[in-house]
Amino acid sequence: MGLHIVTPLLASTAFPARPGARVWLKMEALQPSGSFKLRGIGHACEVHAARGARRIVASSGGNAGLAAAYAGRRLGLPTLVVVPETTSARARSLLAREGAEVRVHGLSFQEANAHAHGVLGAQDAFVHPFDDPLLWEGHAGMIDEVAQAGVRPDAVVLAVGGGGLLSGVVAGLRRQGWNAVPVFAVETVGADSYAQSLAAGERIELPAIASIATSLGARKVSEHAFGLARTHPVTPFVVGDGEAVAACLRFMDDHRVVVEPACGAALALAYRQDGPLAAFSNVLVIVCGGATATVAQLQAWDAQLR
Ligand SMILES: *Cc1c(COP(=O)(O)O)cnc(C)c1O
Repeated sequence: MGLHIVTPLLASTAFPARPGARVWLKMEALQPSGSFKLRGIGHACEVHAARGARRIVASSGGNAGLAAAYAGRRLGLPTLVVVPETTSARARSLLAREGAEVRVHGLSFQEANAHAHGVLGAQDAFVHPFDDPLLWEGHAGMIDEVAQAGVRPDAVVLAVGGGGLLSGVVAGLRRQGWNAVPVFAVETVGADSYAQSLAAGERIELPAIASIATSLGARKVSEHAFGLARTHPVTPFVVGDGEAVAACLRFMDDHRVVVEPACGAALALAYRQDGPLAAFSNVLVIVCGGATATVAQLQAWDAQLR
């Protein structure tokens, strides 16, 4: 069931680990829309379609929009994606390739988002990129798959934008009774709204996103993701853009899969020698993916940030 696929769980030897320790990769980059987002958004769209929705509307030019467009096409529902003028030609063409109607409106995500809400009709389903329990429910399935494969992680590494992935993974861990398994929640400098919020003890809003990891660019994390750190062991971690990009290129060589810097942030922590993961014996890395960066773009960033 579902619009997503069951992704491979690879035991990787490419990451530093002490003797006998394993690093497991949940390969969400291989989802047909290019990222884990299809799990949650696919689930949400299926629920909305079953409730009678006739159109899907999203306001993300990134992986959430791509997942919505893919889901809409598979469900036979027209999909409207409203994006700001800053959205790259590549992202627009990926959306169009999925058959979505791409409407360009405004100079910022906020303007595009407001326009999308303004055009919502009674039979339209709006898809939020991270703050929706239906999304978390869908994302949680990746942890069910890990358990079904017979793997019990003792630490999880993932990237945090608005916190939808984190919310889903923690829900999945709880469903397995793995309430004590720590989660390392990684962001890039300039997109570190989660780390800053935890440090401040309240949800803070970044004035702007100053990172190339645009998929982590939620200026404010969801209330739910923020609150989770009180009831689950979550450790925030922040890496530089350069380290995230270098991790993408290294991962490309190691595993022959292209991912965005947003995903590279999580990989960067896993690649660190003597980092906080060195203490664990079954580390699960969520390779969340991302379809908006190309190899040439990664190489150009690397040259620029080196
Ligand atoms: C959306 C996204 C993230 C961040 O997920 P959140 O649910 O917003 O925390 C990380 N990596 C990629 C590739 C994404 O598309």
